Amino acid sequence: MKILFGGTFDPIHIGHIQLARYVSQQFKHPVSLLPLTGVPNYKQPPQASLQQRLAMLEIVAAKYPDEIQIDYSETQLTEYSPTVTTLRRMRQNELTPEIIYFVIGGDSLVTLDIWDEWRDLLKLTNFIVAMRPDYPLSKMSPQLAQELLPRINTTTSAINAVGEIIITHFTPLEVSSTQIRQCYAMGQEINQLVEPEINHYITQNNLYKGK
Ligand code: ATP
Repeated sequence: MKILFGGTFDPIHIGHIQLARYVSQQFKHPVSLLPLTGVPNYKQPPQASLQQRLAMLEIVAAKYPDEIQIDYSETQLTEYSPTVTTLRRMRQNELTPEIIYFVIGGDSLVTLDIWDEWRDLLKLTNFIVAMRPDYPLSKMSPQLAQELLPRINTTTSAINAVGEIIITHFTPLEVSSTQIRQCYAMGQEINQLVEPEINHYITQNNLYKGK
């Protein structure tokens, strides 16, 4: 199996890391961080370069080698690739394991219908979801709920290779990369929202000084 956790990671923070480590422990399998090279039109481009964001992921992967790895398959791309395209590309590679899990926060689940070709995603992967208190399942549109609720499973193993949504019992920390960038831009203490090694990297490289 393969467990992917896609994100911009601008920067990676302890919310991401705690979730990745929790999933790795529950599923007894490392989680591969999948850094995205671009962002969709509706999002701001990352402030740190791909190289810098990767350097931060490498620091984290070196710190938690049994639990966290990096998937470099998107890093050669020059433009944004929606998750559905990424997964199709992986599925074409015969070395890709049959079972793929894609880790997302509950905010992403309740708005899954804005993802490109979201119905096809359910034919390509299972999801592992960490629900976030501000985004309960009741926030889904009725149509999305009708399609997703029957797929929900609360155990730690999917029965099928694709199309299942496993809701974890992990409550994520309420922290976001946006909040962290703002703290750095305003020169505020970030109070352990990032690993000390990441704080060091950000400071050394003068990242997120504001625009
Ligand atoms: P930004 O604030 O820049 O949008 P972010 O903190 O949401 O960034 P991303 O890199 O965009 O981080 O997120 C990648 C994935 O991590 C998404 O599936 C998102 O739901 C999830 N995620 C983000 N923050 C947390 C958190 N605190 N706990 C658990 N999952 C999170």
